[in-house]
Amino acid sequence: MGLHTITKVEFWPIDVPITDPFVVATGARVMAQNVFVRVTLKNGAQGHGEAAPFPEVGGEDRDACLAAMKQLGKMLLDQSASEFKTIAELLKEMAPTHPAARCGLETALIDAFCHASNIPLWKLWGGADVRERQTDITIPIADLDKTVSLARGWYSKGFRLFKMKVGKNVEHDIRRLEAVHRTLPGIAFIGDGNQGFSREDCLMFAKGVNQFGGTMVLLEQPVVREDLDSMAAIRRETGIPVAADEAVRSLDDARRVVEQGAADYINIKIMKTGVMEAADIASFTLKCGLKLMIGGMIETRIAMGCSFSLVLGLGGFEVLDLDTPLLLATDPVKGGYCYNGPQLQPWQGSGLGMKAEPGKEVTTIE
Ligand SMILES: [Mg+2]
Repeated sequence: MGLHTITKVEFWPIDVPITDPFVVATGARVMAQNVFVRVTLKNGAQGHGEAAPFPEVGGEDRDACLAAMKQLGKMLLDQSASEFKTIAELLKEMAPTHPAARCGLETALIDAFCHASNIPLWKLWGGADVRERQTDITIPIADLDKTVSLARGWYSKGFRLFKMKVGKNVEHDIRRLEAVHRTLPGIAFIGDGNQGFSREDCLMFAKGVNQFGGTMVLLEQPVVREDLDSMAAIRRETGIPVAADEAVRSLDDARRVVEQGAADYINIKIMKTGVMEAADIASFTLKCGLKLMIGGMIETRIAMGCSFSLVLGLGGFEVLDLDTPLLLATDPVKGGYCYNGPQLQPWQGSGLGMKAEPGKEVTTIE
């Protein structure tokens, strides 16, 4: 048995309250119901990972995720963590419809491998562009007063790029953005429809924001994921860049989006595809001349740290939506990158540089 042989896989559910209800066009959440993973290697190195299933996007809930991990975890035993690429492919073959479960296991095993190799996770991807980065901040769907008070709070902490969740009621969406625009100078918006708009709604939304003088830098997934025609039309007719989020849940999806000219940006999320495929989609996106955005589900700093490692290591990410740890009431993780207002500061330790204490209901496979 080599030093990188996986000898133990542990995972446990973790609940983290969300400070303000997270309402988007497709659903609402008050609690992040995630799963933490810890992988131990023969040489004692340990790695952490996180699964953040978001049923409305991936169709995967936590119970399904825990059940999948039980099966997949057994497969990891006695494999070498240095074979993380091959293992990621095997995981995908075994559980194609459980990207969050796969993501948690992949992250933990890659993290363990980096600890054993004594390199930060971003170094594994190349370490292309290691510096402080700025994230946007997400404002969920809420009434006018709540929307403005949330935006004001973040503005006072230095945030200037507001990702507004929209797509439930176009006139109300326009009024919400207008209220924020009139209150806070020097800001810009991303409008994230989460597939909630029709093509006409989205055109009306863009026009409405333009009329009150708002700056809209990106329209994210305005319409249903299959409707690439409308995404292409929205790009043409508004002149505002469009980001494909739900429309890209695999490398094949990314190919279709590129072929049909449906987006300017692809929003990479490790929870949609697993870590290795996310890295592949990112490389493909840049090769095709499109731009990169990166985001997450409702994640703690474990999953988001893995995404940040892609930003630092691969380079080329222009829009960062890595804010969800800031929306959580507590931080269950020690070490790793940290936030200073909207800035994410890189870490120097090995792997993700993080630790999390196992909860009460740990499943152990050894
Ligand atoms: Mg989105």
